[in-house]
Formats: sequence, structure tokens, C-alpha cells
Amino acid sequence: MTPSAAAAKALVPYGGGRDRGLDTGELGVHGVEMDRLVALGLPVVPGLTMPVSHAAALARPEVARAALGQLRRLAGQPFGDPAHPVLIRLLASATAGSGVPADLVVGLTAESAPALDALADGSQAAYDVLAAAIRYVGEHGAGIPGDEFADAEYEAASPAARVRKFLELSTAAGFPYPDEPAAQLARAAQAALRRWTSPRARRQRRGQGQPADLGLALHVQAIRVGPARTCGHGVADSRDPATGAFGPTGMFRRAGFSRGAAGGWPGEPLDELPGGREPLASALRALELGMRAAAQVEFEVWQGEFALLAARKIERQSPRTAIRLAVDLAEAGVIDDMTAVGSVTASDIETLLHPQLELTGREELFARGLPAAAGAAVGRIALSSERAVEWSESGNPVILMAEETTPGDLPGLLACKAVVTMRGGLSSHAAVVARGLGRPAVCGAIALRIDKPGRSVTSAGHSLAEGELVSVDGSSGNIYAGAAHVVPPRPGGDLESLLRRADRVRRLAVRANADNGRDAALAIRYGAEGVGLCRTEHQFLGDRLPLVRGYLLAADADAEAAALAELAAAQREDFADLLAVTGGRPVTVRLLDAPLHEFLGESAQEVNPMLGLRGVRLAVLRTELYPAQARALFSAWAELAASGVTPQLEVMVPLVAVLGELAAAVASIHRAAEEVAARTGVTVPYTVGTMVETPRAALIAGQLARIAQFLSFGTNDLTQLTYGFSRDDVEAQVLSTYVAQDLLPVSPFTSLDPDGVGELIKTAVTAARRVNPGIKLGICGEHGGDPASIELCERLGLDYISCSPSRVPGARLAAAHAAVAVSSATG
Ligand code: PEP
Ligand code: MG
Repeated sequence: MTPSAAAAKALVPYGGGRDRGLDTGELGVHGVEMDRLVALGLPVVPGLTMPVSHAAALARPEVARAALGQLRRLAGQPFGDPAHPVLIRLLASATAGSGVPADLVVGLTAESAPALDALADGSQAAYDVLAAAIRYVGEHGAGIPGDEFADAEYEAASPAARVRKFLELSTAAGFPYPDEPAAQLARAAQAALRRWTSPRARRQRRGQGQPADLGLALHVQAIRVGPARTCGHGVADSRDPATGAFGPTGMFRRAGFSRGAAGGWPGEPLDELPGGREPLASALRALELGMRAAAQVEFEVWQGEFALLAARKIERQSPRTAIRLAVDLAEAGVIDDMTAVGSVTASDIETLLHPQLELTGREELFARGLPAAAGAAVGRIALSSERAVEWSESGNPVILMAEETTPGDLPGLLACKAVVTMRGGLSSHAAVVARGLGRPAVCGAIALRIDKPGRSVTSAGHSLAEGELVSVDGSSGNIYAGAAHVVPPRPGGDLESLLRRADRVRRLAVRANADNGRDAALAIRYGAEGVGLCRTEHQFLGDRLPLVRGYLLAADADAEAAALAELAAAQREDFADLLAVTGGRPVTVRLLDAPLHEFLGESAQEVNPMLGLRGVRLAVLRTELYPAQARALFSAWAELAASGVTPQLEVMVPLVAVLGELAAAVASIHRAAEEVAARTGVTVPYTVGTMVETPRAALIAGQLARIAQFLSFGTNDLTQLTYGFSRDDVEAQVLSTYVAQDLLPVSPFTSLDPDGVGELIKTAVTAARRVNPGIKLGICGEHGGDPASIELCERLGLDYISCSPSRVPGARLAAAHAAVAVSSATG
């Protein structure tokens, strides 16, 4: 057999590759796709693949002629019949990657184009296609500079004139474009292969991490052309990206003939498809089930008959589509819960739960900071809490902008649509409160200069007056001048269905950080299994601030006792509210941890307030504080229990570093319980535990575990104290530089540091379980909502994670991902 005869014999009809034992290594990605379509019983256009090992032979006219002979037999009709014209599409596909390195249509000449154009309703598509082929062959096969074609194109007044100019150009260069289809195909194949093996293409592949000598298969398709009423070509996706719902979405071009997905569009919507939408819909459905992915197809309708030209997985789909597809495939039984859950990311979920900015690209970026709380909002700049409240009461959406916020700003934080701070990081006051309230936040926007007296804010030389509109994107950290378009959140029932599957896969329990009934209700709606942290100091923000101040600044014992009684009474109401919402679930109430500067401002007079009279230390000095809080809590529980609702109370002590601190606090809590039992006759069931948020607490966790029934890792402080990085000061400037210079992969306040902080947690977990195997272990720092940190918590064997209410859905999914990742890593 001659080499050409051998090459002709190597041609594989679509659908014939499997029988010959060929895979992508020979058939290319497209050849395998077409095999799959045939195996699924779907109609495909007549086509052939020239395998990688013989691809070069298609550049020989006799092999191209043999290929056309085979194609004609497959098509079952002669080529060259003016009533039923058939063109030839040459496609190339590599052995890896989804690109289409060559896609052109041959079979036309300057003589045959007018007849085809008439058939195609004078759309000029025939001339477009012919011009594209002449240029491709001239430029890549004969080396005619692309600029010469560009100049000729510029001078041509119509597609038909362009064809004439391109033909003249090719002839003048000594490479006339052939008239005969087989010769055209051979030249097209030669051009495609030359282009693929050019030094530039090889360099590009190497740059993309692919082998320079990656194989290329060539494919030849019969493209049937017919009258606009019954024929045409289209492109369709299996799902509507806006809703994620199944249904063909795309365009159709009557009497057009494919020049690849990009050729000749736009067309018309799919509603009036000749022959109806059903064949397309059922092909897409079969493909989705077969590929277990959203699909995109190119298709032909010829005389009302439907056939596929190409199909591929959609790699980057919208979050809405990802979720709906996962649920649909799981409900159809083609994927299990683990696969469904694995095909969606926590950030897909975040996108659906929060408003998003829909950017046009024309927005003016005003400033940039840390993405501190997801979501987006548009509003007028307010430079004080008072103004935020005033303007929002008069119906204006406002964006609160401040150097940083303190507990006194709670009314402003409640009134605003979003908050922006110049200082502070992801665990700063503004960030923590905004996440709790579900407000978008950008913190640490260090370029901002706020001029309160001048009532303006400046960034990089650009000033905006208080009252002007800005758009805040808490998911990216960007702040734009003016009003961008905001798309509202659309969670949808399919999200809950997916999350229920995640719940079946995950091992870690998911709780929420919630300080009051409102936050707890939101968290429970999002699927939280309980409250992992109620920061009682947050109950004293806003209006209640004078109560704490009165207590902290009391001049004598009487004044202190009076202030404490008032404080406890207020707190009892808050507990009643929180416990009623929590129902029978666990709820961890942390006794007061009030960094003094947050409550007293300037008068706190501590040099390092985050290391000062905080947490349990204040209770050591003010021995009546924790018993008063505990009595308020137990009394609220006893009252609620009378109605049959019995939350699982967990009382938690903050910022412990010394065993005696915990011992004293535990003893005072027990005393309070006894007092409540004596007064009410109700013995309140509860457990007592401690935060582990100082490195020393982690190192003495074995001792703590003898008197604590649970440990909750406060990784905000634990990170701050392990690194010595002030959580309020270093993120925006220091840590962003560290990350930019690759000193750190990510801010340790965003993702738990596995080597240092993680190692401390591991030490604590091991020691605590050694002395108290049943001890409950959790995390309640901001890391509890971060997917990478959740995976570390899974690896460390914690029992639960607790995060802001709005992060609960993402955490449920991330916990399922973590369970799969860790169980597959450990076999
Ligand atoms: C922590 O430090 O991680 C924690 C949860 O406590 P707070 O953020 O209130 O200091
Ligand atoms: Mg803390």
C-alpha cells in the first residue's frame, strides 16, 4: 500500500474511533467528543477524523481527495449539486485542551459563491466564508503577511469585493487559491499544520505549560446548505446562565453555514428553530447526563432535520447554573451527593446569598480595601453615624465611611447599607459587626483620607463630597464613584437542596456566631445547628453603652453594684430573646470580653488595650461581674423552660491564659446556678468551657480540659497573639505587602495558619482529649467561615465550627468538601 493509500485508510468516521481502540491521543478532543455523541445515540453531521499520526498526510491532494470521497459516501449525496450544495469544514483539535486551533470552510469558489448566496437569502455569508478560507490558507500556508490581507479588507466595500481582492493578493504572491475542493482542503490542512507547528505556536504552548509538540488531529465535516426557511446553523448552551434552569439558550443563523461558533453571529433566538426545539433540547439533556456537566453544542438544521457539529463541556459556568445542575444531576441519579457537593464552591454560594454589583467596565474605581463582608450596596457617603441615621431615616440609602468604627457607631452600622473603613482588618470591629448584621464591608482602605470638617473624602487625588453616591463591593474590596447596578440575591430552593446533600456528607457541625435573637434567627434559617458564640459585650453597644460605661467607671462599690444590677437586667431580656430563638439547640454564651478602648474610648488610657484589662481579667478584678451575667442567663433559661423550650446552655470564659482564672470563673458560675436554683426551684443544665485564644491557653489545654467541658478556639486573638500581629492594625498595609512579596501566601486572619496557629491547636486538641476524651472542641474565630480553614479544622478533628450567620451556607458546603478531601487523603 502506498503511504497515501495507508493514510486514506486511517481516516475514522465520527463514532468509529472506539471500535478501533482510539482515544484523544489519536482522535483529538473533538474526535472523542463526536464519538461520545454517536455512542449516546445522538444525530451527528457526516464527518471524518484524520488521526494525529496521519494528520500531515491530509495536506496531500490525493489523500484530501480520498477523504472527500469517503465524506460523500457518508453524506449520501453528491457534492457540487447546486440544488443541495455541500461544503467542507476543516477543524483541528489537539490531544488536550478545549481550544479549536483551526476552523474554516472550503468547497466554495468565486464562481459558486453567488448561487450559494442566493440560496442563503443574499446574506453574504458565502463570501465571508470564502474570504476567510483564502486568507487563512494564504497567511498560514503561504506566509503572505496578515497586514496585506488587512489592508485589502479595508479597501473592499463588500464581502464579494473582499473575495476578489484576496484572490488577487494570493495570485500575485504566487499562491493562487485553488478552484477545486480537494486541492482547497489539502491547502487548508497544510496551513493548519504549519500554523500549529510554527515556532511561535510552540512557544505559546510551552508558556501555557503544554508540551511544545502536542499532537493535532484534523477533522473534515460535510456542511449542508439550504434555503433559509428550513436550514441553518446554531450554537446553544444547555442552561440559562441567569437562572441555571435547563433549556437551550443560544442563537440560530438561517441559511448560515458554520465557520465556528464565532463565525457569522449574531443570529436569531432559538424560538423559531425549523423543526422545533425538541431535538436540540433532548440532545442537550442526553449530553448533560452523559458528560455530567453543562453542555454547549454547535448544530445544523437541514431541511428541518437536526444534527450536531460539535459538543463540549462548559468549563466555567455561572454559580446559579453550577448549583442547579448539581441538584438536577443528583436528582436524576447520575451523580451522588459527594459529587454534587464537590461541583459547587463556597464562593458560588456566597454570590447567590448577597447582592452583587453588575459592572459594565466603565465604573470609576475610587478606592480599594480588604473585602471584609460580602455583598454590595450603593448609597450616599455619610461620614458619621449620626448623619447615617439621619439620612437613612429620611429614606436615603447611605454608606458609612469612617477611619474605624467603635461600639458607639452601632446605630450608624444598623442604618447604613454598607460600611467602609480606612483602618482595621478582617477581624476589626467594623468587619465583625458588619458580617453579623449582613452588611457589606470594605476595611483597611488605606488610601482614603477623611476630612470630617470639610465633609469630603479623598482617595488618590480624587475627592467626593459627603452625600455623593458610591458603590461598595464587599466581595472584592472595591469602592466605585457613582451608582453601579446592584443585582439582588437569589438563593432559590435548589441551593437548600444542595446544602441538604452537603449536610449528609459533612462531619463537622456548623454553628453561628450570633449575639441576639435576630442574628440567631437568620443563622438558623441558613441551617446553623446552634449558636457557637454569643459575644455578650455586643449586647451593650449603641443605646446600652452608657450601662457598661457606668459599670466600668463606677466610683465606688455602691455605684458599681447599682450599675451591675441594671446591666444584668438588660442582659436578661437579651438572653430571653436569644434563647427563645435558639430553641432546643446548643448555645454558647461567652461572658464579657470588653476591650476597654472599645467601650471607653480615650478615657481607657491603656497603651495596648487588646492586651490589657480584657476578658476574664476584668472578672478577676470585678468579682461580681460574671456571677451577675450568669444569673441573668440562668434566670432567662429557667423562665423559658417553663414553656417547654430548653436550649443546651454552654457558658464560656474568654481570654484565659492562667488556669486559676478559669477555675475562679467556673466556681462563680456554679455559685450563680445554685443561687438561681434556690430562688426559682429550677436546676439549670449547662456546661462550662473556655475560649482558647492565647498561646498559653493552647499550651496548657490539658490542664484546662480538667475543668472545662468544652474548648472553643478563638482564632482571631490566637492568630494575633501567635504572630504578634495586631488584628486591628496590620492587615491593610503590612499583611497586604507580605502577601504581595510572597512572605505569606494569604493573610493569617483570612485563612488559618497551619504551621503556627494550627500547630498550637493540634497540641491543644491532643492534650485536651488525653485528659478528657469526650471534651467538645470547636472554633469560633472568623476562620470558622473560611473554606481552607474549615478543611484544617476537619484535619485537626474538631467537632464544630462557628461563623457569621451569612457564612453558614458556605460553611456547610465547605465542611462537606473538607470531609471528602480528608477522608480521601487518609484513604
Ligand atoms: C476570637 O478571638 O477569635 C474570638 C472569637 O473572640 P473575639 O473576636 O470576640 O475577640
Ligand atoms: Mg477573642
